Amino acid sequence: MGYVKGLRCKECGKNYEKLPVHVCEYCFGPLEVDYDYEGISKVISRKSIQDGPPSMWRYQPLLPIDGEPQVGRYTGFTPLIEAKNLAKALGLKKVYVKNDSVNHPTFSFKDRVVSVAVTKAKEFGFDTVSCASTGNLANSVSAHAAEAGLKSCIFIPVGLEQGKVLCTQVYGTQLISVRGSYDDVNRLCSEIAGSHQWAFVNINIRAYYGDGSKSYGYEIAEQLGWRTPDNVVVPVAGSSLITKIWKAFHEFKDLGLIDKVNTKVFAAQATGCSPVSTAIKNGWDTHKPVKPDTIAKSIAIGNPADGFYGIKTVRDSGGWGEDVTDEEVIEGMKLLGETEGVFTETAGGVTVAVTKKLVEQGRIKPDELTVVCVTGNGLKTLEALDNKFAEPAVIEPNIHSFEEVYSNGITV
Ligand SMILES: *Cc1c(COP(=O)(O)O)cnc(C)c1O
Ligand SMILES: [Zn+2]
Repeated sequence: MGYVKGLRCKECGKNYEKLPVHVCEYCFGPLEVDYDYEGISKVISRKSIQDGPPSMWRYQPLLPIDGEPQVGRYTGFTPLIEAKNLAKALGLKKVYVKNDSVNHPTFSFKDRVVSVAVTKAKEFGFDTVSCASTGNLANSVSAHAAEAGLKSCIFIPVGLEQGKVLCTQVYGTQLISVRGSYDDVNRLCSEIAGSHQWAFVNINIRAYYGDGSKSYGYEIAEQLGWRTPDNVVVPVAGSSLITKIWKAFHEFKDLGLIDKVNTKVFAAQATGCSPVSTAIKNGWDTHKPVKPDTIAKSIAIGNPADGFYGIKTVRDSGGWGEDVTDEEVIEGMKLLGETEGVFTETAGGVTVAVTKKLVEQGRIKPDELTVVCVTGNGLKTLEALDNKFAEPAVIEPNIHSFEEVYSNGITV
């Protein structure tokens, strides 16, 4: 059995049983998982982790499931790449890319949260899983529901990239496209949750789901040799990932797995949907909802569920929030491709471009160790690069034709 005692309100501290609930009935604060850290400290060590499987389940005592994982056994433990060429291009000494664009099975960081959420759905005995999604969550919920043998019904805003749509449908699901923004879709789902007894992974299962994100933070610390970086630049949508990376680092410190946490956390957004970075720049405690308009659709959430905690994380850590234009997003995608051979989606373009901006502002210093979070795969957002490159040279199948083109330098 696991180490979850129950749930607890993040605001007033009221305790709840282990149930599919997510809001405190007294103060409407969000609920979070309450762990038996004393029990965990008896079973977890650097060695126990290193002897574990090469997946996020090497940290199983710190994840909120009761039995064995029921889906997503191979999720996580993605590469932490030392990005020497990118570092050079940015004028930094040490840059690492935490590369969830190759996560299993659906090529984004969402496989971490969904492996936990769908396992919880099974534990709670639901027969249908659902979600409101900006794309990657839809892909992952659909895939994991198939693996679990559960039905799924998935809601997305109209106008998502074709890759995100097809990569949801291929696993066999009921996909519903809503005329509205993600925030409209999310509101609708909260309403549907009232009349359908489903596991909505980012609504009634959210407390558990969110903790799947912690594994991304644990991996960064372990893969850096049991320490945290000076800086971590995180793409922000609902603010779950950014909050949980911070939580993960502190849990590792409290368990004695690392010595200290001396990390600045930076929130990266697209200017066309930047409620969190705007709040940080203006010194606000919480965000003002916005209407998204950006090619970085996977992180286009105008009213982030954990925005308040995302802003607090950045401030507590001494970090900052920045945002970049859609043109800069594309430059960021190209820069990562050209320097490291890693093809990320628009959200990764946001992180890379924001990192560049933070270096130019002097907020990230050359001698510091910086981790850039790459959370999704470029093959899913090909539209973003439509018409961004010249057509390839077309030649006759003979050497003369090739030399003509080559010496002209067209292909360089
Ligand atoms: C969902 C998502 C994020 C951020 O998610 P949060 O809601 O802030 O946890 C980042 N990158 C990609 C590619 C995503 O799909
Ligand atoms: Zn409460």
